[in-house]
Amino acid sequence: LAFSSCTLPEKLLQNIESVGYDMPTPVQMQAIPAALMRKNLLVSADTGSGKTASYLVPIVSQCAVYRRQHFASQKKPLAMVLTPTRELCIQVEEQAKLLGKGLPFKTALVVGGEVMAGQLYRVQQGVELIIGTPGRLIDLLTKHEISLDDVMVFVLDEVDCMLQRGFRDQVMQIFRALSQPQVLMYSATISQDVEKIASSLAKDIISLSV
Ligand code: AMP
Repeated sequence: LAFSSCTLPEKLLQNIESVGYDMPTPVQMQAIPAALMRKNLLVSADTGSGKTASYLVPIVSQCAVYRRQHFASQKKPLAMVLTPTRELCIQVEEQAKLLGKGLPFKTALVVGGEVMAGQLYRVQQGVELIIGTPGRLIDLLTKHEISLDDVMVFVLDEVDCMLQRGFRDQVMQIFRALSQPQVLMYSATISQDVEKIASSLAKDIISLSV
């Protein structure tokens, strides 16, 4: 299976080629078509498997298609990726920028360690994707007017790590600000706790492992 056999915007296929992804990795072969069909996924995948692009490719595609079809005077975020650390968020944003180049696809980081005002301003200017850590996102949600009700894809990366760091309640709180998004969950290990939070976030989950 090649990237070009998935129904993706031409510009996104060009960007995939430019970053040098010749063939999808095994996790991408499974997750991309399922995510494009708007399935909820629980994916067991390690760092290095290509998991980041396996959710970013469908996100970029869905956002680009949506923006072409819907006029918006105020662009509210259409997708959100939560990861346990600021460093991981930065890496995700780097890949997202490369894949979304030349498309209606802007990103905003919402992570600790930087002044919130700049991050808030960027979100309010209109972005398609927010990438953040739970703590800073809760701050932004509780202290400021940001509207997450257009978010149609919600990604939880490194769910096991997120639970180990005690982010469970914060994740649930953020989830409650969304209106029934598609949920894509990734974890190196699938423990009972991971399955439990997965089933409280989504119905009809497809489990994938590579
Ligand atoms: P990840 O598992 O998401 O941390 O990705 C690991 C590395 O693989 C990253 O540096 C990606 O840029 C790279 N990568 C992701 N997908 C592909 C692909 N289809 N072909 C080659 N490299 C890839």
